[in-house]
Amino acid sequence: MFDLKGRVAIVTGGNGGIGLGMARGLAAAGARVVVAGRDQTKSRAAVEDLKGRGAEAHAIAVDVTDEAAVGQLIAGTIERWGRLDVLVNNAGINIRKPVQELALEEWHRVLDTNLTSAFLCSKAAYPAFKKGGGGKIINIGSMMSIFGASFAPVYSSSKGGIVQLTKSTAVAWARDNIQVNAVLPGWIDTDLTQNARREVAGLHDSVLRRTPAGRWGGIDDMSGVAVFLASPASDFVTGAVIPVDGGYSIQG
Ligand code: NDP
Repeated sequence: MFDLKGRVAIVTGGNGGIGLGMARGLAAAGARVVVAGRDQTKSRAAVEDLKGRGAEAHAIAVDVTDEAAVGQLIAGTIERWGRLDVLVNNAGINIRKPVQELALEEWHRVLDTNLTSAFLCSKAAYPAFKKGGGGKIINIGSMMSIFGASFAPVYSSSKGGIVQLTKSTAVAWARDNIQVNAVLPGWIDTDLTQNARREVAGLHDSVLRRTPAGRWGGIDDMSGVAVFLASPASDFVTGAVIPVDGGYSIQG
């Protein structure tokens, strides 16, 4: 039910953090994984990490905000492994400024990276999914898909948008046997949140206090949900929004 042998997965931002955690899960279940990111030093290290675990992995350089580059990512994947089964739209950034300090260019940069990229990658993947008789898309939201934060107006807008894009795509492509779901990670220890902890006073301890599990998440906490949503186990699950947060979002 959770077997991904023979399947091919693309993970955007798979060269570190949550993307690498998900890539490790997909690889452990048997998938061949394309690590799609900008930083080729990080991507090479991620490919070595996955190969070291016995998986087949390959890096393709891409800026997910560039429609032509996204097209080449999909074409390059099919050229190498002949098919595409799973797309994880995970690449993301944050610029932590309140509305009154945020420049228009910064607004566009975060929306393009976090939300428009998911639209571009999903659109580009659709013909391959159709041809293969189905597919799985896993979009990465955030606790900011649910909550607001004074320092994250554009990030929360992008992550709220990810949920609605997930639902609309899920409805549109259900008859094509394409399941589209969103994962909302809680606070996971990655480069992104190392920066957040530097920039937001008291964040580390307030996350610990609020998270019922009593800890920050690690990247390997993201592996299992990726396997579930990429595998036949979730064939009747679509448009779902699944927090993986140690209980953060249900704490009253
Ligand atoms: P990281 O900074 O470790 O990972 C972000 C990834 O996105 C990097 O691999 C980076 O690759 C890639 N990326 C960024 N911009 C682009 C671009 N234009 N084109 C291609 N790749 C790009 O952070 P996380 O692992 O924490 O974040 C991963 C996702 O999870 C993001 O969407 C984030 O919003 C989300 N998230 C994270 C949470 C957390 O607590 N950590 C909580 C909730 C959601 P490269 O360096 O090669 O560009």
